[in-house]
Amino acid sequence: MRYLYTDFCYPTEIHDVVKLFFDDAELCSEPDGADICVTEERSDSSFRYVATAYGISHTEFVNASGCDKLQTARLRKRYAKIAVYNLMTAVTGKTMPWGSLTGIRPTKLAEQLQREGMDWQKAFVQLLGVSEDKTNLVADILRTQGDLRTHRSGCADLYVGVPFCVSRCSYCSFTSGEIDRLKKYVSPYVEALKRDITQTIEFAKQRGISLKNVYFGGGTPTSLGATQLDEILSCIDFVPQEYTVEAGRPDTIDRDKLNVFQKHGVQRISINPQTFNQSVLDAIGRKHTVTDIYEKYDLAKSFGFTVNMDLIAGLPTETLEMFCNSVDRAIQLNPDNITVHTLALKHGSALKEQNYSADADVSKMVDYSRARLYESGYVPYYMYRQKYMAQNLENVGYCKPDKPCLYNIGIMEEVSDILACGTNAISKKIISDDNRIERSANAKDVITYIERNSDYMERKFKLFDI
Ligand code: SF4
Repeated sequence: MRYLYTDFCYPTEIHDVVKLFFDDAELCSEPDGADICVTEERSDSSFRYVATAYGISHTEFVNASGCDKLQTARLRKRYAKIAVYNLMTAVTGKTMPWGSLTGIRPTKLAEQLQREGMDWQKAFVQLLGVSEDKTNLVADILRTQGDLRTHRSGCADLYVGVPFCVSRCSYCSFTSGEIDRLKKYVSPYVEALKRDITQTIEFAKQRGISLKNVYFGGGTPTSLGATQLDEILSCIDFVPQEYTVEAGRPDTIDRDKLNVFQKHGVQRISINPQTFNQSVLDAIGRKHTVTDIYEKYDLAKSFGFTVNMDLIAGLPTETLEMFCNSVDRAIQLNPDNITVHTLALKHGSALKEQNYSADADVSKMVDYSRARLYESGYVPYYMYRQKYMAQNLENVGYCKPDKPCLYNIGIMEEVSDILACGTNAISKKIISDDNRIERSANAKDVITYIERNSDYMERKFKLFDI
């Protein structure tokens, strides 16, 4: 165990950087006995950060003259993290692929740095310690996104969450529950959700908010039956620009459900293998076969849907060679989108409870997928990073050049307002003038959502009355 002391007012951010190097680091409230100390000194609008550990010290300065409160806060955080990151690399001799970046979307930061008048690529590499490789990835994503990352005021996307699933994957920490276990809540949930969707669409109409893209996620929406899906999708009484349903588990997809989707104008679905190795599917509790993946993919394509496939790097028992096989087989199928996730183990997942830690080859897996996808005609179009990701890597969505998922860009880049329905769904309103986002979260659990449906709707609508 290592102890970190900081008198600086952003301890969580500093702690996050230290944890990239020392997973067991804990914050302490006194400098005495701390292994790592970070202090801030201020003189007018200049700030000095001194990070010290094991007899090594690193100092950073920043001058925030002419900056407003928000810009000053950003600079303070950024330079304190740089000081700690540089100290940690000096202490451990290690560097991180994303350098001192934690808790910030790299694409958004690139834009921010540009607004500050900096050459963002230079700043990524020379100031923030990001590798050239990851910097190039950000540049490629920004190129693919182009104008799609522009916030359109007066528009919003509609998210609908279905919190049920057929069984629990060992890496899953979502608040979804097995549908068999929650059987008695399914019908009331569907009714509450229909009310939520109908009133949300009505609200948008009244306020002149133009709803653009619709995304059904979860959980696994297709864990519901065709009739229930039909009822829910019937609430969408406008023609979305883009209409996506995350079918996710191949074992939940059948002809009847796809017929329902087609009838309602759904254009895109996800069929997520996660791996093409049967022994790994078994090890993570997916309860479907590799054959199911092929069959359901062919079935979906016969309906003409645009298909996304998710893969995960770092699953238990999957070696580098096995993961490369998964990538190759996904590419052979030629779906329109392939999303490569890095395993992230949050509290609540079975693997986290078992203290599972991903294999050292995860970064090679990610590199292999990127190289193979590029040479197969895919381009990266969105990316996000989360806490607890194996080796501090990233999730990247790749698409055929003309097939990005607009909803994904909107939500991941935080450029779309979101009106969200269902449990654990978060509505977001971008306040462009202040460069901030206001959020309203629905209940996390099914029972509270059903019981307090109207309260949550009221809160959501208030958010859009700002
Ligand atoms: S299919 Fe998705 S929602 Fe269901 S348990 Fe697995 S990861 Fe969780």
